[in-house]
Amino acid sequence: QEDSVAQHEEMTSWDINDTRLPQDVRQIDWFQEWPDSYVKHVYSSEDKNAQRHHSSWAMRNTNNHNSRILKKSCLGVVVCGNDCSTLDGRKIYLRPAICDKARQKQQRKCCPNCNGPLQLLSCRGHGGYPVTNFWRHEGQFIFFQSKGAHDHPRPETKLEAEARRSIQKAQTAFSPSSPRLKRIREIESLPGATQTQEALPLLLSKTDACLQPANVGGRLGNSCRELT
Ligand SMILES: [Zn+2]
Ligand SMILES: [Zn+2]
Repeated sequence: QEDSVAQHEEMTSWDINDTRLPQDVRQIDWFQEWPDSYVKHVYSSEDKNAQRHHSSWAMRNTNNHNSRILKKSCLGVVVCGNDCSTLDGRKIYLRPAICDKARQKQQRKCCPNCNGPLQLLSCRGHGGYPVTNFWRHEGQFIFFQSKGAHDHPRPETKLEAEARRSIQKAQTAFSPSSPRLKRIREIESLPGATQTQEALPLLLSKTDACLQPANVGGRLGNSCRELT
């Protein structure tokens, strides 16, 4: 099945598993943030995003028998269990946390829009399994190959998630706040104080109820900072 797909893409005759990959590449690609379906790209080894194996899909490292090829698989998207929409008509498509522990914690949080329960929508775009991406560095090139087509909406990007959190924080500033909330904001506004989890456990432990304002629950534990 994958062979027939590969034949469709004559312009790229290589496969990521080939013993030798072409080194006479005439054209390198611009970095693709949202690679989808069965695509291949050749990036420059200087490309910063390619060096980081970046994707706007939430991809996590997966074991691969070939240690020269990095394999990543898609985690899908986190959606609102109430299927709510924001005032401007958008759906909630959160970015799944890459780290297992952080992702479990994330699913116990509430929808940032309606405070309903969150749900992880798994990716089944590769024959019922998650879409996989492969990365391989050879000489002056970084080869990329994707297998499967994502069967779920795009998660918000990291930049969008950060923007949303800062808007939520600004909104909290206008709502009546407890002394504790006020103190956290003061800590957060200190230069260099990016780790505020120490101040939050009391608040985080209550978010299971999924009814109170979830504005302060946007940060994940620092035991696994996202690296993708
Ligand atoms: Zn919702
Ligand atoms: Zn996917």
